[in-house]
Amino acid sequence: MGVVTLDQVDRQIARGFRFLRFSPDIEAAFRKDYVAERVRLAVIWGVIGTLIYDLVYFGDRTMMADVFTALVFARFLVFTPFVIACILTVRRWRNALLYDSLSVAIAVMGVTLPMLAATQSASPYLFVYQNGNSAAFLFFVIALRPRFPAVLVGLALMCASHFTTTQMTGAFDAVTYSGIITFYVTLSIFLAVSAYFLEQKDRQNFLNQLRAGLLYGQLERNAERDELTGLLNRRSLARICEGLWSGGKHKTVAAILLDIDHFKRFNDVHGHIEGDACLRAVSRCIRDTVDEASFVFRFGGEEMLVLSADREPLAALAMAERIRVAIEDLAMRHRGLDDGCVTVSLGVALAAPAETTLERLLCDADSALYEAKRMGRNTVALAGETLVDARVA
Ligand code: GH3
Ligand code: MG
Ligand code: MG
Repeated sequence: MGVVTLDQVDRQIARGFRFLRFSPDIEAAFRKDYVAERVRLAVIWGVIGTLIYDLVYFGDRTMMADVFTALVFARFLVFTPFVIACILTVRRWRNALLYDSLSVAIAVMGVTLPMLAATQSASPYLFVYQNGNSAAFLFFVIALRPRFPAVLVGLALMCASHFTTTQMTGAFDAVTYSGIITFYVTLSIFLAVSAYFLEQKDRQNFLNQLRAGLLYGQLERNAERDELTGLLNRRSLARICEGLWSGGKHKTVAAILLDIDHFKRFNDVHGHIEGDACLRAVSRCIRDTVDEASFVFRFGGEEMLVLSADREPLAALAMAERIRVAIEDLAMRHRGLDDGCVTVSLGVALAAPAETTLERLLCDADSALYEAKRMGRNTVALAGETLVDARVA
């Protein structure tokens, strides 16, 4: 199953689903949801349905005394174990088609079993007795609620079975028999129409829920991202910091604070639009240079922050140096400078989360960045320790 996107869902909503079918990816998600929901309710309906079905035992005893033994056998030794087996099967193999097929099987069996016994009965109450099958029709469509095609197949088979067995009883004249047929056919048509609209509603609700979930995910992602650069924003810093600082998971956290050199002048000479493009290029370059486990933030206007857990000081310095070189290698023209290309300065600081706070760590990184600027820019500096002049290295 592919990943469903918000676009796909919007297109599906616009296109509609008159034939009760979505595009393949959404249909697969719908079926998964459908079968999960039906299987969840299967036990409840199984218990209620069989209980009522078996309670008809009292009706069997009064109305159908001459075939009572056959009815007890059918209800308790055939139907009930069959329903239990069906419930166990759908719980084991959660599949929409299997659920629909077993629903049809239960419905047809529920209608057929008592009527088969009735074909051997001479009871004067057969007319009233056969009426009871209308409950099975209702239960099938309203409680089991298989998908529309299964409803059509089920109702057709139930009608076929009911009409055949009713005729086999030989108890009804032509007028009564046609009355029975009219009643069940009308009932089936009403049920089929309502099943169609019920599934429409179900599908609409599913799409709405799916859309809301995807939209929420997108909003959540957007809320954590800087619009211009696509990097994490300051708001997400608190959440990520909580993860890095909690539970003593990490021995150290390295912060690399980066600032574009003479960026004000870049804007003045190239204009803000090119300035924005430069910010995007620098951001992409940082993201491509650091490893997957590091977090890259747009910390301020043209300041970026990289947070990386469990890194030795030398490894953090090496990472900062790789970033500096990668940006220099972009060879982005800076007409405001004599040597003419965009460079960055970086301040590196390390801290043990158990001993210090994020604020302290950022303060140290900021001091190191200040030092790097003071050293002449296009430089990496380590807080409170050796300064590495990248231009010399
Ligand atoms: P230094 O080498 O000391 O860092 O000098 P600088 O000119 O880069 O430093 P300063 O902090 O004075 O300038 C930062 C500039 O970044 C000022 C502002 O116009 C620019 N800036 C901040 N955010 C954006 C942005 O989103 N787009 C553009 N184009 N420029 C921005
Ligand atoms: Mg700055
Ligand atoms: Mg700057």
